[in-house]
Amino acid sequence: MLENFNHLLQKYAHLLVHKGLGIQGDDYLQISADIEIAPLVHLITKEAYEAGAKKVIVKYQDDQLSRLHYEGQSIDTLTDIPQYRIDESKDLMDKKTKKLSLRSADPNALKGVEPEKISQAQRAASKAFKEERLATQANVVSWLVAAGAGKAWAQLVFPDLNEEEAVDALWDQIFKTTRVYEEDPVKAWDDHEARLQEKAQFLNEQQFDYLHYTGPGTDLKLGLPENHIWESAGSLNQNGEAFIANMPTEEVFTAPDAHRAEGVITSSKPLSYGGVVIDEMTFHFENGQITKATAKEGEETLLRLINDNDGAKQLGEVALVPHQSPISQSDIIFFNTLFDENASNHLAIGQAYATSVKDGAKMSQDELNERGLNRSDVHVDFMVGNGEMNIDGITKQGEIVPIFRNGEWAF
Ligand code: ZN
Ligand code: ZN
Repeated sequence: MLENFNHLLQKYAHLLVHKGLGIQGDDYLQISADIEIAPLVHLITKEAYEAGAKKVIVKYQDDQLSRLHYEGQSIDTLTDIPQYRIDESKDLMDKKTKKLSLRSADPNALKGVEPEKISQAQRAASKAFKEERLATQANVVSWLVAAGAGKAWAQLVFPDLNEEEAVDALWDQIFKTTRVYEEDPVKAWDDHEARLQEKAQFLNEQQFDYLHYTGPGTDLKLGLPENHIWESAGSLNQNGEAFIANMPTEEVFTAPDAHRAEGVITSSKPLSYGGVVIDEMTFHFENGQITKATAKEGEETLLRLINDNDGAKQLGEVALVPHQSPISQSDIIFFNTLFDENASNHLAIGQAYATSVKDGAKMSQDELNERGLNRSDVHVDFMVGNGEMNIDGITKQGEIVPIFRNGEWAF
């Protein structure tokens, strides 16, 4: 076990509850986590009650059970979401329940399961819980995605280590990238937030018309909507309470104009989607639409994602992350978007965040769509950054401003 592991796990729980979620008196908190990381869930629950939370609701998952359900149930059963679960989701939203999702699952948990089953089940859940998803994406409630070290995931990331060593190595990475080794992790996050916000502020002042990406296998022009807003680590919920949506996070992001993407972009890291690893992708765009997509691994899953979901042929997020970010420097492929997206410039297929344009959180879905913010039931990030990537920002007057040179911030 890592030296001081229990102490570090306690510091991590404290950081997630206080800085990540900003739990305070009378809050409801819902935690979804894998059963494997129950010790962390216990610490977080205790910490949340001590911070004044009124009620903590825990939903445990289990990779092996999920797999058995997928294998044992028909598509009809998998896609039948009972009304009581939808009612529960509404009740929790009415209570402005803050949400913590702890990711530790095996990225290949569902490998070999019929892609059609996974695709349909995910689509049904996505439709049934649409209101909750939209409210979360518009920051109506505070939400946080963070990680814990699961055994199967750790072994995929560190195949040369034995199981115990791999789990330790993964915890070590989680603690490093979330600044838990710092004496005062909350203070370290305050400073980190301020640094990222400086970059966002510069980009917001520029209000670029479009970005031009060039690099190996990449030449893409990506339009940005009027009054777009670049955001970074810190967010505010509808009640003005601060939270951090992702820990770790290194990105500065906004929404692209869903109708303006021209050219081609090549992925730089694999991604795990629906329990399947997809790798070495290329995407061709015309008028904002993906006209062709390929992958060396997991192509069927990728094509299903793009073809079976509304809005999955267009982009909903553009995010900038320097190649020398701490996660990138670790040179580890995590097969987990929370980590890999923070090692690399990335884009997302599907839904844009309402907060990516001025006053977007108050707009209807139709209004957001008119502003160029893609509407979709999915949001899947894919990584495109590398040490050779250049990005220019082009202003409405046609002025070219370097944003990235050789994978690093150019300003
Ligand atoms: Zn992102
Ligand atoms: Zn994203």
